[in-house]
Amino acid sequence: MRVGVLALQGDWLAHGAMLTPLGVDVLPVRTAAALERATALVVPGGESTAMLRLMEPERLDDLIAERIRRGMPALGICAGLILLASHVEPDQPSLGLLDVDVVRNAYGRQVHSTIVPIEVDDELGEPASMEAVFIRAPRITRQGSDVKTLGRSGEEAVLVRQGRVVGATFHPELTSDGRVHRMFCELAEGGDG
Ligand code: GLN
Repeated sequence: MRVGVLALQGDWLAHGAMLTPLGVDVLPVRTAAALERATALVVPGGESTAMLRLMEPERLDDLIAERIRRGMPALGICAGLILLASHVEPDQPSLGLLDVDVVRNAYGRQVHSTIVPIEVDDELGEPASMEAVFIRAPRITRQGSDVKTLGRSGEEAVLVRQGRVVGATFHPELTSDGRVHRMFCELAEGGDG
């Protein structure tokens, strides 16, 4: 399995450190050719507006959308989740691959960054809680009926999955708990289809 990590902007490098110990090949994706070689894709955190701009020259947005629609598993983290969402507030383009609506920077300017324990579903294994790092995080304000909540902070869904598309409003690559990446790799085994 070759897990591509969209490497245009943001903290893409940290994902390699989480994925490599799981025995998968990690491939930085900056071009259409690299995307073609990936069998699963991580869309990392960073700045979604900047990533949208940087995807334009190679039309990576359309190509990613096409691959994921054809069955490529994807993990969107924070800005990556914003890019995969159905609808974004304040209004900006998104790929509509995960049936959630999100509000960017929803926790305001005062709380830029915080670490809190969240509750996680059985799919993540034991223990039932996980330390989660939130950095200018989006808030999920609506999720479709096919979207399962795998992680919760109080009443808020912070980790969701629709089939083989996973989204997190926090940054699992910034803690030593590798369970989100492990779950994603197990889910992604077999690649497209
Ligand atoms: N606030 C960023 C955005 O709107 C996301 C922040 C992050 O990825 N940590 O794209």
